[in-house]
Amino acid sequence: MSTPMYVTGVVLVLVTLVIALATPFVLLHYRIPYEHGPECWWCHPHLLPRRRDPR
Ligand SMILES: [Zn+2]
Repeated sequence: MSTPMYVTGVVLVLVTLVIALATPFVLLHYRIPYEHGPECWWCHPHLLPRRRDPR
C-alpha cells in the first residue's frame, strides 16, 4: 500500500470516528431546551478570533 493511500485511509477513519463520537453529543445538545450559558462553546463558538468589545 502506498503512503498517500495509507494517509487517506487513516484520515477517513479518524473523521468517521470523530463524527460518530460527536453525533450523540450534538443530538443531546439540541434536545436541551435551556440556555447553556456563555461558557458553552457550542452555543457561543470561539473558533473565530474575536477582539474584546470596547464597550
Ligand atoms: Zn450550548
